[in-house]
Amino acid sequence: MEKVATLLAHLIASVLFILSLRGLSSQETSRRGNMLGAAGMLIAILATLTQSEVQGLGNTIPALLVGATIGGFLAARVAMTSMPELVALLHSFVGAAAVLVGFASYLSIEAHAPKTEGFHVTLVSPILLGEIFVDVLIGMITFTGSVVAFLKLKGLVGGAPLLLPGRHFLNLALLLGCFALAVPYGGHPIGGVLWLGLMAVLAGVLGVHLVMAIGGADMPVVVSLLNSYSGWTASAAGFMLGNDLLIVTGALVGSSGAILSIIMCRAMNRSIWNVLFGGFGTASGSMSKAAPVVGEMLEASAAEVGQMLVQSREVVIVPGYGMAVARAQHAVRGLVEDLRRRGIGVRFAIHPVAGRLPGHMNVLLAEADIPYDIVLEMDEINHDFPTTDVVLVIGANDIVNPAALEDPGSPIAGMPVLEVWKSKMVVVMKRGKGAGYAGIDNPLFVRPNTRMLYGDARVSAEALAAALAGRA
Ligand code: NDP
Repeated sequence: MEKVATLLAHLIASVLFILSLRGLSSQETSRRGNMLGAAGMLIAILATLTQSEVQGLGNTIPALLVGATIGGFLAARVAMTSMPELVALLHSFVGAAAVLVGFASYLSIEAHAPKTEGFHVTLVSPILLGEIFVDVLIGMITFTGSVVAFLKLKGLVGGAPLLLPGRHFLNLALLLGCFALAVPYGGHPIGGVLWLGLMAVLAGVLGVHLVMAIGGADMPVVVSLLNSYSGWTASAAGFMLGNDLLIVTGALVGSSGAILSIIMCRAMNRSIWNVLFGGFGTASGSMSKAAPVVGEMLEASAAEVGQMLVQSREVVIVPGYGMAVARAQHAVRGLVEDLRRRGIGVRFAIHPVAGRLPGHMNVLLAEADIPYDIVLEMDEINHDFPTTDVVLVIGANDIVNPAALEDPGSPIAGMPVLEVWKSKMVVVMKRGKGAGYAGIDNPLFVRPNTRMLYGDARVSAEALAAALAGRA
């Protein structure tokens, strides 16, 4: 009876997770998707806690409460711009948990042994050993890779890729070394913990080296790849523990993370193999020789930009990381409402890697209640710039850099960007001459049809709203 109830709970939770992913695929349904996911997780936790084989609830529940409090506190306090660091750190926890569970399972293998009699001795035992091996291998790569990703995103480790000579051979040697250790490990089912430990060390070094070799500009893909790894490691743990819900959930996270990585690679025009093994994209831009940007940046006042806006028919807003830093989205909504009241068409153009995490801009715009139907993806709006009167670039830089298309020496060469310079007038709202994440100059700023509106994005957006209010 208990088994049936658990199975049913796992089934309901799995369906809720699938519906949650479906909900998260569009802005209109994302809140509902989030709630469905949370409900699925609650059912999963309750189903686990009420199983009779789960003992020591007196320890588990306080541990759960402490974990939930720390998690809730961190999530409530974290700035949206620091989210990738938090996500990387959380992935490292998944990896660490999988490794610990793997070792714990191995150490309790003797307890399993009496159950695997006769036919099962040959069949189940090697499978369990294999599951533990794979779980620790992926878990350790995820753990150390995520810690390095966290340190890089936090700026505690330099963003430039570590390009050791013969690094591909090093990766291959480490991977082959891990697999070679499977032989002595499998040959000594009860005593192979040393071999398992040695393999974990090699896998840990591989995780560090893989992520150290990736440049700053490719970090978005790395974070989503580590997300995918954390899913696969959870799935492997599910096989090891005989927990079907963990298998399904891990596979969902693993595959959705892999799909997201591929989408982001496409958005940045990178091949996934190049990101994984290429050491692409330096934060300093020192890997490639970008053409120097010469020319003068022309400044405009809020009053002048206000004048341009009221004379326009079509306006496109390109939000970027600076809008998130300034928390300017609410001021921007005021601006949008005013322009729309005047009969001016306003739309938002969203680059897939704008900001610092996938969907960053969509979340901020949804938070400010910007209508979804005027928020368009890059591919949907890129061909409309030639017929646009004014583009407001709010705290964005790399995603509107024409060098990506025009300068083969640029570190971001080949990355599709929003082609805002094709519009009649571009107004760039930023604080000064600071570079973007890729650390490179932007020739857009010196184009004859570009004007710089200097200042914090929120202050500038409010100044623009005030300038508009002064014009009937
Ligand atoms: P960028 O980082 O290229 O540029 C942001 C610009 O905002 C800066 O040039 C800065 O200039 C300006 N800025 C900063 N603070 C403010 C403020 N308070 N008010 C106004 N402006 C401000 O951002 P983009 O969104 O254009 O591009 C995203 C970059 O981040 C890409 O290179 C992408 O690869 C990378 N990335 C993306 C991730 C993702 O998943 N989306 C994850 C990790 C990296 P100034 O200092 O002069 O104000």
